[in-house]
This record gives sequence, C-alpha cells and structure tokens, in this order.
Amino acid sequence: MEMKALIKEKPVQGATFQNRPIPQIGENDLLVRVRAAAICGTDIHIYQWNEYAASRIKLPLLFGHEYSGEVMEVGKNVTNFKRGDRVAAETHVPCGRCFQCTTGLQHICQDMKILGVHRDGAFSEYTILPEVCAWKLDASITYDIGATMEPFGIGVHAMSKTKPAGKKVIIFGCGPIGIYAQMVAKLSGAEYVIGVDVSQERLDLARNMGTDILLNAKEVNVVDEVNKMTKGLGVDIVVELTGNKNVLNDATKTLRRGGEIVLVGLFSGPVEWDVVNNVIYKEAKVYGVTGRIMWETWWSAQSMLLSGKMDVRPVITHRFGLKDYDQAFQMAQSASTGKIVFEI
Ligand SMILES: [Zn+2]
Ligand SMILES: [Zn+2]
Repeated sequence: MEMKALIKEKPVQGATFQNRPIPQIGENDLLVRVRAAAICGTDIHIYQWNEYAASRIKLPLLFGHEYSGEVMEVGKNVTNFKRGDRVAAETHVPCGRCFQCTTGLQHICQDMKILGVHRDGAFSEYTILPEVCAWKLDASITYDIGATMEPFGIGVHAMSKTKPAGKKVIIFGCGPIGIYAQMVAKLSGAEYVIGVDVSQERLDLARNMGTDILLNAKEVNVVDEVNKMTKGLGVDIVVELTGNKNVLNDATKTLRRGGEIVLVGLFSGPVEWDVVNNVIYKEAKVYGVTGRIMWETWWSAQSMLLSGKMDVRPVITHRFGLKDYDQAFQMAQSASTGKIVFEI
C-alpha cells in the first residue's frame, strides 16, 4: 500500500512529492491518517536547506510535524487509543527513562527525538505517532486547529512562565506563535499587550486578533516608543520570539527593573547580549522556553480553546493541498503570513 508524501531527498532547496509505502507501526505506535499539517519555521529551514537544517538532518526525510489526524491502527501495547480516535501530535518524543523524563520534564528529555526532524514526519497521507506523544482531540476541535495546537502550545507555555494579569506585556514577533502568545496574554488579563514585527501584514493580523498596540520596528524606534508609553519605567514582561540577534538587546531595553523576560526565538549561533545592564542591574528574571510541558501545556491550551473566549481560527491564513507544496513554501518564506496549513 502506498501513500503520497513530501520528501526532502537532496541537500538543496526544495522537496519532492512522491509515492512512499505506508509505514509499519511498532508495538507502541499509532498509525495516523493525517488530515491537517501546518508549516513551521523548522520546515522552512528544511525546505531551504540552510545551515540549521544541514547540521541536524539526515536525508532522505519525510518532514512536517505539526499535524492532526485519525487513528487507523494501533500497536499491540497501545491502551489509551483506538481506531477512529482523533489525535494531535506532541512532536517531541521523550525517551521515558532519563533524569528529566522521570522527574516530570519529558519536554526537555536528554535524548529527545523530534518528529519530522530526527524521524519521518507528517507531510504525507499516513504517519506513525508513538502513543506517548498522542493527544486526543476534543470533539469540538477541528483538524486544522488540532494541527496548530503544537505551535499554540508554545505561546501558552511561554506565557505560563509569567503572571500577565495586570501587567504590561511586549511580544517581539507577530508570526503565528507571537500572535498566539499575545492572545494568551490578553486572555490572562494583561493591562495591555504590545506586538512588534517588521511585516505590516503580520501586524495587521495581530491587530485583528486583539493585540492592543502594534509597533512596526522598520518605522519606529521600539525602545523610545515603549519608554514614552511607560513614562520611562519599561514593561513588566518581555517575550522574545524573533530569534533575531539584533532584536535581543532592544527587547531587554524595554524591560523594567525587576521584570521578566521569556526567550523563545532561536538565534542562529551565540549572541552578544549586554547582560550587566539588561539582566544583572535590572535583576531581570530570564526564562528559556522550548516546546510544551507534557501534558500540562496541552491541557491549558485545550481549556483556552474550549473557553469560547479566544478564536484562533483566523491565525490560519492560507490552506493548500499537499501537491501545491511549492506555492505553500513560497508563501511561508515571505514571513508575512499567519499559519499555513496543508489539508490532506
Ligand atoms: Zn514546529
Ligand atoms: Zn528522556
């Protein structure tokens, strides 16, 4: 039995759409018929084949990892899932044995494998999901929203490090995760939320999703603007999602003394950061955030989606069939869209 799949075969820009055998599941796996899969920054790296991809990935690879679908078959040790269940995927596969895994920190497992990076992913009709990474979708959550619970979860996890109620929050980056984080901060009762980006399309999307103040870093000096807004005090909470080395120092300049900064965006290589002025003298609290806490973040994310107080649907701005992958990745590379989803 064969399936259609998007494969990264060669170490050059692009990918190929091919037939592949439907994978065989192991004892602890689910075979999932993929229904929706979203494009993530990592997928763009893989598609472009930049340094980030070349240093991590063995070819050929079936990529894509943010997805949801229907369970078709379960391995013999699987107890919590059955054929017909609707699932989303936690994309970080924990080993289950290391120090972190045995102390409730599976999401930073010592021997973590990532779907669609270290093993075959989900830009395909079928994929294998280890039971340990399967999240049962609530009946009211559609497949496309299910596919975005993974990046939504990063926004939820980032904000969970802080207590945004009654606070001034600034979020650098208005890509999908940035917008999700802004929505979570608003829902959590922030006094106001500032979103920063250089794409007018993304700023407009963030405004439509309810972010209070939008700053285009190409047009204004963000540090000056925040200074004016806060009468020189600075904001209580900074979230860095751009991964842009030049943004980090400005981002921390907007932070008030004694404030909190959450670092989520991935910088390429070491960064130069004025730690004395931005962290030590400010007594700033700095948090690193990666992935989602299993399963605490997922429960919170689901509660927010089910609360009816947050409509994340418009964050998905483009939908494609898998065969139109080239067009989809062209759009994704523009860094001016919301989430792009393949309907499979
Ligand atoms: Zn991702
Ligand atoms: Zn582990």
